[in-house]
Amino acid sequence: MKQDVYGKNELIEFLDRKVFPVLDRATVFKDLEPNDKGFYYNVRCPRCNFRDASVYKSGYVLKCYRINKCGHTVSLVGYVNKGSTPKTSEEFLETVKRLAQAAGVSMPRKPFREDVVERARRRESRHAILESVIADGQRRLWSPQGEAMRNYLRDARGFSDDEIQDFQLGLFGKVAEVRQSLQEDAHASEDIDNVGLLDKSFEDHIIVPWADEHGRPVTFYARWPGESPPKGTTKSTGLATPDAARAFPLCFNLSLRHRHKDLVLVQGVFDAFILQARGDTRVVASGEEELSRPQVETLKRHKVRSVTLCFESGRGGDTALFESLNRLSDAGIMTYVAPSLPNHLDPERLVVESGIGAWKQHLSRSVSSSVYCGLRMMGDVSPESGEIQRRQAIEKVLDYTGSLRGEWAILEREDLLRSAAERTGYAYEHLVDLATQHGVRRHVDKVLRDALLKLSRPEIDVLKLAHKVSVDLSAVQVRQEAPLALSVERLDRESAEGPTGSRSGWRALDTLDIRFKPGELSLVAARPGHGKTAFLIGLLANWMRMSDDAGRDDSFIFYTAAEPEVRIYHRLLSILSVEAGDGWSVGEIASYLRDPSVRELKSEWPDPKSLSAAKERLRSWEGRIQIVYRPAWTVDEIAAYARMLKEKGPIGGIFVDFLQRIAPSSNAGGQEKEMVAISRRLKSLSSEVYAPVVAGTEIAYDTVPADVRTKVGRTERFKDSINIIRGARPVLANLREDGSDQEADFVLGLLNYAADYRVGAEKSHDVPDTTLFEVGALKNPFGAAGSWASLYLIGKYLLIRDNADDAG
Ligand SMILES: [Zn+2]
Repeated sequence: MKQDVYGKNELIEFLDRKVFPVLDRATVFKDLEPNDKGFYYNVRCPRCNFRDASVYKSGYVLKCYRINKCGHTVSLVGYVNKGSTPKTSEEFLETVKRLAQAAGVSMPRKPFREDVVERARRRESRHAILESVIADGQRRLWSPQGEAMRNYLRDARGFSDDEIQDFQLGLFGKVAEVRQSLQEDAHASEDIDNVGLLDKSFEDHIIVPWADEHGRPVTFYARWPGESPPKGTTKSTGLATPDAARAFPLCFNLSLRHRHKDLVLVQGVFDAFILQARGDTRVVASGEEELSRPQVETLKRHKVRSVTLCFESGRGGDTALFESLNRLSDAGIMTYVAPSLPNHLDPERLVVESGIGAWKQHLSRSVSSSVYCGLRMMGDVSPESGEIQRRQAIEKVLDYTGSLRGEWAILEREDLLRSAAERTGYAYEHLVDLATQHGVRRHVDKVLRDALLKLSRPEIDVLKLAHKVSVDLSAVQVRQEAPLALSVERLDRESAEGPTGSRSGWRALDTLDIRFKPGELSLVAARPGHGKTAFLIGLLANWMRMSDDAGRDDSFIFYTAAEPEVRIYHRLLSILSVEAGDGWSVGEIASYLRDPSVRELKSEWPDPKSLSAAKERLRSWEGRIQIVYRPAWTVDEIAAYARMLKEKGPIGGIFVDFLQRIAPSSNAGGQEKEMVAISRRLKSLSSEVYAPVVAGTEIAYDTVPADVRTKVGRTERFKDSINIIRGARPVLANLREDGSDQEADFVLGLLNYAADYRVGAEKSHDVPDTTLFEVGALKNPFGAAGSWASLYLIGKYLLIRDNADDAG
């Protein structure tokens, strides 16, 4: 079936994928003396001969910008075919051959079936005809005949003349006039009739071109300029081609051009135009009440991450909103909802009357769709409402928070409770208590109901049932997280775990009496590019191995704002591959996994067996390592996530890469306070989840003393620089600038000799594969501060290990 569809579009795909993307438009229009202007070529108009025509470098049509004097338009295909769209399949295939030749692409050997060619020809002719209609509409709008319409667009809708031109708005004439203009552009009558746009219902309407993802027109939207259209016509109408149009939200090609992954969806066509024109290029329009399935498919295909819906209260009501939300979340796209605009304003009015700032301000009050739904359930309750009404509203929200599932549930629950607190006037802490009690009540209710049901059966073992009930009920207490009463046994156990804590797994470092304990925050300080991430990843791998050896199944969180998850995956694979035999560098892994055939290009490629072994090792750790790449998260969000994970099982450690990259919370003031607040929160998190937290922290480049730099610069060989670089070991005072050390229990400093040598000497060619990598205890309440351990870094794999000579 799928093959069949492809077969029908074979020639279209050949053009869209092979020819058009590489075709230099200047070659096609070389007779018109193209002049390179960056995004486009300025060319001579083939009709009026003025140098006022242009074609985008990735465009499909040439347009003359003397709109009301000429306004000629001709497509690439039409131009190559001596000025008119090919009228037969043979003619079209000839044109395709010429285009392919101009693009330097050879034609497929297998001949195209005639119906396949005809299909592609019709699409081209449809695009070309729509372009002609746009040009004709623009010509009419900017002629004296269009004056009233231009005034309407300016005064009633708020468009500037430039915006009217940019969006190619036009005025549809009488059907006979439009037909004549299309014939002047040499379109065949049969093709014109096939497009089906010579319809009386468009007459005297404003027409708006509707483009596909490449910006080529696929259909029209027509609107009557004013409140009441003449008898027998509609206020707004689309061309009778629903399938093509509905696959693309309006303006999606514009947001795509800006590479937006987070879009804003409005309903109205003019709303989207105005917002785009005034600078919010994220805005697209459904053009209908709701977003259609094909439109959602298009968004998904282009990997859109989130959509914020700003719907008008009058249009389609809740059904349109909830349908759109469901379709988007089914496609795995995150959804947010903007508040309703006051007094039934639409987005267009808002931006025309109050400016783009007011629009962005409005959007900033959007909430996630679960918060939106929860708040909707509360109805119009306010802090002034009666006690009973407020209670009932809260009950509904609590029921709803209990039903939230998925990765974001815990954050959404917090958001929702905060908003509910604002709505009802109850304190947030009070609602958190209520939510806990509510959850407990549901749990107890379920346990007791189940028990009563079983009790009514005569064959039941009552003693066993009683035991089960007591176990099920006691599960509640575990969840309470209330402080525990003194218990000799528990405290003995904690004493055994506490003071020793986890070793690092590197012998040299462990001799310094460095231990990572639950309830404690350790910082790893280094200059940029000195191996903070390599150290944290190495420590993670060491701890996973130690956890395996001890038969534990605790999990580890690796939070990174610096590198995407897949990159951390490659780094883990790289260091594990060394252990498995033949080492693979991160670069080798990335290109090999992208395309295994690259191996054939190079003879000295490492053995795939060691990469498979590394993968196997990582696979055995699946589900126990959470690599969290969420650069926008604040420390509170990281903490909420860790607490959520803790509910599922023990946590062995939390790594944070790195402090200065964590998004600031809105309520802190200044860099210093922010760092103190973040490290304090991480330290308390360490207690809450009973796991050590190890965080990277960056110290400045200029902590290298000037004389060290000068001397390193003078050395001839890496070996000679070692004693000099030792003088640049980080000290605790390097961290004092931002205060991040205040809350930390341990502070480690990293000294990467290769990195300092490269910066100082600017000659990287003679750095050995394995170089000295020192780790020092800058702050250590249990051992000597200021002592340093020698480890080694294998630069190719960013692998830190104990010995220099056992490198793979
Ligand atoms: Zn012209």
